[in-house]
Amino acid sequence: MKIIIAGAGFGGLQAAKTLAANGHEVTIYEKMSEDEIGRNWFDDVDYKVVSDLGIKLPEGSYRTEDITMVPPFTEDNITVSVPKEQRNWRVNRRLLQTQMIKDALAKGAKIIYDTPCRKLIIKGDKIGGIVAGKEKEKIYCDLVIDSTGIGSPLKRSLPDEFDIIKEPAESEYYSAFRGIFDTYPDQPLPKQKKKIFVKFMGQNGLSRVICEPDGRIDVFISKLGRMSRFEYETLFRQLRIENQFIGYEDLEKCLFAKLPARFPLTKMIADGYAAVGDSAFMATSMLGCGIADSIRGGQILADTIVEADTYTAKALWKYQVTYFKQVAADRFYYDGLRRALFNSKSDEVRFLLEGGFLTEAELKDIVLGKGIYSSVGFILSKFSVGRRKFKYFVEVIKALSKAKKAVALANQIPSRYDKGRVNSWQNKINELYKD
Ligand SMILES: Cc1cc2nc3c(=O)[nH]c(=O)nc-3n(C[C@H](O)[C@H](O)[C@H](O)COP(=O)(O)OP(=O)(O)OC[C@H]3O[C@@H](n4cnc5c(N)ncnc54)[C@H](O)[C@@H]3O)c2cc1C
Repeated sequence: MKIIIAGAGFGGLQAAKTLAANGHEVTIYEKMSEDEIGRNWFDDVDYKVVSDLGIKLPEGSYRTEDITMVPPFTEDNITVSVPKEQRNWRVNRRLLQTQMIKDALAKGAKIIYDTPCRKLIIKGDKIGGIVAGKEKEKIYCDLVIDSTGIGSPLKRSLPDEFDIIKEPAESEYYSAFRGIFDTYPDQPLPKQKKKIFVKFMGQNGLSRVICEPDGRIDVFISKLGRMSRFEYETLFRQLRIENQFIGYEDLEKCLFAKLPARFPLTKMIADGYAAVGDSAFMATSMLGCGIADSIRGGQILADTIVEADTYTAKALWKYQVTYFKQVAADRFYYDGLRRALFNSKSDEVRFLLEGGFLTEAELKDIVLGKGIYSSVGFILSKFSVGRRKFKYFVEVIKALSKAKKAVALANQIPSRYDKGRVNSWQNKINELYKD
């Protein structure tokens, strides 16, 4: 069977390796040239995906430092220390991506660089291939795996009847800036090597400054929805004032990009089509697990295809069910938490992080992806602190209950593909987040 992987994203590459190893004819179409692939900077990769799927860590990978959270409009902060063996890896993105390409090629997949995938070829209710390259060539296949990331032009070409969300709404993505800088001469580096600024300057976003062991400073600024040049410059100027060790030399050509800020797609498949990675909104803001979850998604997709040996929506639905049960349902909790955080005022965030409301152990659970859930015991244990801001305390409890409900709903994904049941499940999720 002929499979096209659109985009050499992490999810697509993981799928390509397994599918090619199982005898499928796999071709990856990537818009970049071979030497433009990836970025020469470090990203967090969940330690569990590395051990579970036997990901080979590229040279120079190291365990991430303790995380220091800084609430808005204060220099106070709280450091969350995680046991070394449970810390994520910091992995060079370019080395990981090129290593994964090599692994897929070694199993028999092919890659064609400099070839942007433009749109899907649609025959009735089935996807039959892609239009790609400068010459807008039509390439036919049995299955298209869309691994082109959040801005997927393929998803955009789907007719509405396919019921697959094409683009995130304004409140469902972050505008992000990322740059790697030198260290400002003679400025001492801070003790806290990884600082996360929550709602920096009151903006709905997470920003971070990381001092890498090689002396480079990794700066990330994000804001929910559109970020104007003026907003970005104001945020960066203030970040520099508070972190005077950030130098001025842009070492890796800074990037402006979009990141998903919502739960994964509740429909990511069609006859002959499957989205994986950020084209299925698999990255969860707050956890830094976009790469890991995309890899997990790619593996689950490939296992489903190998087992089913057919590409109908009915057969591919198993991929989505397994992904939801193993990964996505829990991510709904973090999406709920993110919504609650961004509905809070700056003084309320300070109350949560440094007013004694959340303990260090609870923050550690959040960082480790375990979350915290509201129960009668939790409410009682928080009451004496919570009553100092009673109205907000009630809001926090409500938000935690809603997040729990969202996880339960996500877990109720219909086990078989039945349009009526799938629609009713999707509607319940949308209803929960209506306000
Ligand atoms: C600034 C920033 C910082 C981040 N930090 C982290 C982090 O620390 N840890 C983490 O886990 N995640 C992080 N993420 C999220 C992470 O990058 C994504 O979740 C992850 O890369 C998604 O993988 P993917 O499989 O969807 O493919 P992507 O990594 O999105 O790759 C898509 C590939 O498809 C190619 N492509 C795009 N369009 C086309 C087209 N039309 N035709 C052909 N090829 C195409 C691209 O060139 C690229 O090679 C960050 C994201 C950003 C923007």
